[in-house]
Amino acid sequence: MAKNKKKQTELDKIVSLCRRRGFIFQSSEIYGGLNGAYDYGPLGVQLKNNIRDLWWKEMTQMHDDIVGLDASILMASKVWEASGHIKNFSDPMVDCKECKSRFRADQIDLEAPCPVCGSKDSFTEPRDFNLMFQTHIGANSGSASEIYLRPETAQGIYVNFRNVVDSSRVQIPFGIAQIGKSFRNEITTKNFIFRSCEFEQMEMQFFCKPGDDEKWFPYWREQRMAFYEKMGIRMDHLRWHQHGPKELAFYAKDAYDIEYNFVEPMQWQELEGVHSRTDYDLTQHSKFCGKQQDYLDPVTHEKYIPYVVETSAGLTRNVLMALCDAYDEEVLTTEKGEDVRTVLHFHPNLAPVKVAVLPLVKKDGIAEMAKELEQSLREEFPTFYDQGGAIGRRYRRMDEIGTPYCVTVDYDTKEDNTVTLRFRDSMEQVRIPMSELVATIKESTKNYKRK
Ligand code: ATP
Repeated sequence: MAKNKKKQTELDKIVSLCRRRGFIFQSSEIYGGLNGAYDYGPLGVQLKNNIRDLWWKEMTQMHDDIVGLDASILMASKVWEASGHIKNFSDPMVDCKECKSRFRADQIDLEAPCPVCGSKDSFTEPRDFNLMFQTHIGANSGSASEIYLRPETAQGIYVNFRNVVDSSRVQIPFGIAQIGKSFRNEITTKNFIFRSCEFEQMEMQFFCKPGDDEKWFPYWREQRMAFYEKMGIRMDHLRWHQHGPKELAFYAKDAYDIEYNFVEPMQWQELEGVHSRTDYDLTQHSKFCGKQQDYLDPVTHEKYIPYVVETSAGLTRNVLMALCDAYDEEVLTTEKGEDVRTVLHFHPNLAPVKVAVLPLVKKDGIAEMAKELEQSLREEFPTFYDQGGAIGRRYRRMDEIGTPYCVTVDYDTKEDNTVTLRFRDSMEQVRIPMSELVATIKESTKNYKRK
């Protein structure tokens, strides 16, 4: 008798598509895989770079009061003493005494049997587990050489606050933006790349005069939500969650998360945080390094430690959001009956391949013409050339990786220099002169609206 197969969740289907089509692989897969770490394949890295570039453009190019930074991952241990990460950056954990599995105490029912081995009353008392990865720098292994992989990019910005003020022409209010890797020894790493041990963050700290944070905090909340709309994300899948008194860090004035309704079984989860952090971090660094991290207003001559409004998004978590938002299985009625089309409805600006060029036949110079066209489009768009297999199957392969535009070249192209442009979402096809292709695709991208 056939085994009763467990029903695939939406997330399972996305994980499987990511692997099959080269978006995301488990790290060290040939050695059995490393939990909580992932490798971005040819399409995944392009998708991630596209999101990264959109964020960077939005935050720096489109805001003339924000400058960029790329701080190192390794920082002096004192940074993490000052920030409170060494003392406080921990989750309460319990171990199962029988199977040695470890769980976050706030994520399981401590009265229930162990979810892995089923043992009863087998949990240890909850104890704090620091999430920072520790390592050593230099030849000595004593405590003086102990350092940490950064668990957030933000501290790299705080410790460079004075450097940026002293070396650039910035004046408060201004922000510093940064994208980079962060590391957390997460215990619960389920849900694919949602929560991993190595991930990327896109953070911006906006420095303002104490009191003016009241104005900048709503401003940045509004800006950040608008960004996702520009990214083409379905707005009814995004919402705000304000931190209650128990969630709010003791120094924070206010905090909101942008939550996204990920696919089943994840549902609503945090995507980005917008936090009003007061002068906490700069005050702490002033105390720990012994140098005032303050600002002298060149006009009013007031001296103060600025307040900070921070926007903190996960880049890799954004990749998962983009995949979940785009994933669709459409049931099509064809002459042969019902057919399912798997399609990723990425906004054209996010799509790893934007234009695919497909010759309808290989002979009589058609393939050569198509290849030439594909090469000429490379300057403008990420392209892909595919001459293998039936055209219907080639379209489907492109739909599955979210390619918004397919161009076919045929005998008529030879005669009149026209091509067929096919749109991914509507599957509509139009015949246009080759010379109008670039402009048509650009126009369509500009006006793109997901149905
Ligand atoms: P969570 O409650 O999900 O652990 P957090 O509140 O600790 O997250 P922050 O420290 O505010 O998260 O980090 C800012 C953003 O960085 C998060 O909104 C998320 O997008 C991303 N992020 C944090 N931890 C991880 C992780 N382990 N894997 C992937 N992304 C992460």
